[in-house]
Amino acid sequence: MTLDNIKEEIEKASHIVILTHESPDGDAIGSSLAMYNALKQTNKKIDVIIPECPEIYSFLTSYDEIKKEENEDTKYDLAIALDCGDIKRLDGFAKYFEDAKVTINIDHHSSNTMFADFNFVNPDAPACCQILIVVLEFLGVTITKEIGECLLTGIITDTGGFKFAGTSRETFEFTSWLLGIGVNVSEVYRRVLEIKTKGNFALTRIAMDRLEFLEDGKIAFTYITKEDEEKVNAKTGDHEGLVDLGRTVEGVEVSILLREADGFFKGSLRSNEYVNVSDVCMMFNGGGHARAAGCSIHAPLQEAKERLINEAKKHLR
Ligand code: 5GP
Ligand code: MN
Repeated sequence: MTLDNIKEEIEKASHIVILTHESPDGDAIGSSLAMYNALKQTNKKIDVIIPECPEIYSFLTSYDEIKKEENEDTKYDLAIALDCGDIKRLDGFAKYFEDAKVTINIDHHSSNTMFADFNFVNPDAPACCQILIVVLEFLGVTITKEIGECLLTGIITDTGGFKFAGTSRETFEFTSWLLGIGVNVSEVYRRVLEIKTKGNFALTRIAMDRLEFLEDGKIAFTYITKEDEEKVNAKTGDHEGLVDLGRTVEGVEVSILLREADGFFKGSLRSNEYVNVSDVCMMFNGGGHARAAGCSIHAPLQEAKERLINEAKKHLR
């Protein structure tokens, strides 16, 4: 069984690296720090490398120990990728993954490409952090209040605060158990979902202003440029949630956000009831989940918009 292999490989390794996807969200950071804090209970040498981390997660235990970079020549005994569906998305650190003696991939993306030696992937789990509950228990790790906060952060962000369809009995049971060990669920919720940074607030205004409805109101579209981000002095992660502005409007099935990056546009797609946006994004070499997915489009804004909308509209009823 994969979990036996994972346990054995972790026990054997003495130098381990934890990696996650680029543009990391609460599930990426929560699962990385949960695993880091768990493995720190052993006397192994553990690195967690995430080059750009939104500051809103700085309340999590060991946030300050996240490495932004690592010596190129470092070779790890074991590399663990968390919340990452595709090796291409390992945030510029695929090298450490590929160079490691053994690799593990723990994830919940339906489009996961099974890129490791041992893949523990469950697309039914609403968050990678929810899979980690099972993994950590199997490893015999004591889930402390600090580890619980990391796991809850991923669960809350990836379930949109317990509201997305993937939210399961286990989600509530685990959260209830966390309350029992003293985790302040309300406070974690407020920190990761409610508080808006000033940059996010300013970008929300811009994206809201540009929101347009197409295809009989079934597709919502908006965008932000680099210039916008510079103007409002946006920080890492300040674009989070912008794609939901359109998704929540009556009649909308697919919401699309295009965000300008270096020489390309990053597409973020969300759907409400039936469009599989992971399938839409796969047409552009991206992927994700049925109701939340992303891709990169190397084209100017207008063309990127048309290509995405043309693809998305094929899936409308
Ligand atoms: P977001 O729109 O929040 O950036 O991403 C939504 C979901 O799609 C996340 O689970 C994210 O990991 C995944 N995702 C975003 N962009 C890509 C991409 O380019 N490729 C793949 N495989 N998944 C992506
Ligand atoms: Mn996730």
